Amino acid sequence: IVSRDTHPQGTIVNIRGIPLGGEQIQVIAGPCSVETQEQMDLAAEGVVAAGCRMMRGGAFKPRTSPYAFQGLGVEGLEIFQKAARKHNLPIVTELMDVRMLDTFMEHDVDVIQIGARNMQNFDLLKEVGRVNKPVILKRGLSATISEWLMSAEYIAAGGNHDIIFCERGIRTYETAYRNVLDITAIPVLKRETHLPVIVDPSHAGGKAWMVPALAQAAVAAGADGLMIEMHPNPCEAWCDADQALKPQELKQLMDTLSVIAKAV
Ligand code: PEP
Ligand code: MN
Repeated sequence: IVSRDTHPQGTIVNIRGIPLGGEQIQVIAGPCSVETQEQMDLAAEGVVAAGCRMMRGGAFKPRTSPYAFQGLGVEGLEIFQKAARKHNLPIVTELMDVRMLDTFMEHDVDVIQIGARNMQNFDLLKEVGRVNKPVILKRGLSATISEWLMSAEYIAAGGNHDIIFCERGIRTYETAYRNVLDITAIPVLKRETHLPVIVDPSHAGGKAWMVPALAQAAVAAGADGLMIEMHPNPCEAWCDADQALKPQELKQLMDTLSVIAKAV
């Protein structure tokens, strides 16, 4: 179903009226995690000021340590919606557990994010395949492209064809950055599938100063959009503080991206 052969011209996924996969690149921005109402209100203002049209924020966090902040849970979804709806921003948030799917639907989550650690959680993929909500499928920590395509096929087989691939870097022996952004995956995926491909430069680099270069490279390589971590006060972020852009840095990056997007 996800093969390019089925739709050679490519597919646009419609997210509450915003086209992803068309002429225009779309940028999803926001903090790693939902923390407080004030933080999310300021973040939403930063998203709008930068010219981004969708917002991210995790309420359920897949942390390496069970003792690290795990997210605010359902309260986080409520805070997120309150902040985003003021600006009519669609919300993107991670689903980790099939038991929370109904709650996500009740809270009107606009885009369900399947995180890298769950790319091959096949039961979770089957369940999101049954709902009528766009899904961002992040690449597994060390997943091959064919494994990734098969994971998308699990979602599509259930009837949900609104799938967006998100390259977020893969495991590397290198320690200078968090993951290695697989730029090559962009043209390969664009050839293999008709579905949109976006890039998360934040979890790839792991440092805020690396984000602009990686984001620009992704757009130059043909990505349909980006997902970028931005926090109103990065030093104070409860999660992934090192990689969050400041609102002003996001705005500056957006200006350079529009130039690159026009050139490709
Ligand atoms: C995230 O987007 O906050 C996240 C946890 O990303 P990943 O699943 O790519 O590690
Ligand atoms: Mn994060």
